[in-house]
Amino acid sequence: MVSTQRPIDLRSDTVTRPTEAMWEAMRRAPLGDDVLGDDPTVQALEAQVAARVGKEAALFVPSGTMANQLAIRCHTQPGDEIIAHESSHIIHYETGSPAALSGCMVRAIGGADGMFDADAVHASVRDRNIHAPRSRLVVIENTSNRGGGTAWPLDLATRAACAAREHSLLVHIDGARLFNASIVRGYTASEFAAIADTVSICFSKGLGAPVGSALCGPASLIEEARRFRKMFGGGMRQSGLLAAACRYALDHHVDRLADDHANARRLASHIQGMPGVQLLCPPEATPSNMVFFDLPSAGPKDRPAAALCAALQSRGVRLLAAGPARLRAVTHLDVSAIEIDLAAGILASVLHDQRP
Ligand SMILES: *Cc1c(COP(=O)(O)O)cnc(C)c1O
Repeated sequence: MVSTQRPIDLRSDTVTRPTEAMWEAMRRAPLGDDVLGDDPTVQALEAQVAARVGKEAALFVPSGTMANQLAIRCHTQPGDEIIAHESSHIIHYETGSPAALSGCMVRAIGGADGMFDADAVHASVRDRNIHAPRSRLVVIENTSNRGGGTAWPLDLATRAACAAREHSLLVHIDGARLFNASIVRGYTASEFAAIADTVSICFSKGLGAPVGSALCGPASLIEEARRFRKMFGGGMRQSGLLAAACRYALDHHVDRLADDHANARRLASHIQGMPGVQLLCPPEATPSNMVFFDLPSAGPKDRPAAALCAALQSRGVRLLAAGPARLRAVTHLDVSAIEIDLAAGILASVLHDQRP
């Protein structure tokens, strides 16, 4: 029975366990004390990821949230305003930290699929006067999570970043899934990162490491971020253990992201035929490793997504409610094409059972 086996967990690409080879790399890693500045594996990872995204330096941190918030802390002063898409992670999933940790406001702007163009940037920059907050930083999220897993075209992002520069604003990329975007769009991570001052990368999403993210940027900024990392409680000791997993992920798990994207399309094709379910985008247009779909809901207090998640969980399939009537499935390293087919079969059967 599926329910007695490991669940097919499509809640997020963060749920992966280290592979045997990754464990082996962790076991073999030379360690030090990174707060004292002598963990060789952390230093090697920081150099490796900085080179990979074409920045001068990098800082290894516990989470993507910390990477983004260190960037915001370094780029801004209290009272400054950050321009970000209304669906962005820094608004919805970072517990208000731009306000709490940096004293900043976020100006949320619109745009299809979690993206925006140069005109939207121009329109959102404040006039410089004594009444207005100071516009300071534009954040570009790639891929855009709540936007549907969409990957920014390089020219659109370049024009948005150029618009920011025209107003002397700084640019940060929330690149939690930048490597997914690079596989989808065919640019390198460093080609995309070149439009921005700083970029954050997650190793614990599609890349399959257990823990860890990096903030990459100019060496002087990264030194400042190292101070704030300690202040935020993110100084870690024998973190080379984790950095070894991240190094392994960078070396071995980037190109295979294409498999996750194929599996997401595969899942979407299964879902397309199911009655009473509306995909956010057609299977062939599935942007990366995420599939979103809506259920018909009777009214604003109706929460059919949570009910479906609970029913699926008892059958060994896990999805995430991304809204009252919206579900999200994310493909990753620990889910095969066969498991996608199995999960889709279970979803179809649960939907059938739930029909009035
Ligand atoms: C996951 C994610 C992050 C970081 O999340 P943590 O859980 O703090 O590692 C940042 N941005 C986006 C777009 C994400 O999806």
